[in-house]
Amino acid sequence: MPIHLQHLESETNEKTRLRGYDYYCEGRVKSVFNINGIEWMAVVQGYDDHVVQLNITNDSVLRHECNCSDAEDPCKHVIAVLYYIRNEAHKLKKTDATGYEEIKENISYLPPHVLRYLILKYATISKEFRKFLLDYTKDGKK
Ligand SMILES: [Zn+2]
Repeated sequence: MPIHLQHLESETNEKTRLRGYDYYCEGRVKSVFNINGIEWMAVVQGYDDHVVQLNITNDSVLRHECNCSDAEDPCKHVIAVLYYIRNEAHKLKKTDATGYEEIKENISYLPPHVLRYLILKYATISKEFRKFLLDYTKDGKK
């Protein structure tokens, strides 16, 4: 059964939803971005960081995925991101999706030390990215 952004309260498990709402209110949803108006990705900070991927069309959540091991489906991380999208998606800047699919495929083959190098290199070039990284990694994150 698909979930709808406007009906989160009736279409999700109450206990999980309240935990997800807490996560959202605590500002744990980071780095939300939208590709082509349909595909969404976000990081939710918790004891571990989780990556949430969603496909949403006309208010309907067609696909949701999280890399956590919670038994609940959708988990609190997915719900936190859905609250973010419902309440704050209008604040997001438009993204340029040129080459996105190709990059997504290609970087999945890169080893962590190369990814770390690329992140550091880009951080020295882009002040905005450096600020984002500093903000993302503060609060005693590993
Ligand atoms: Zn999760």
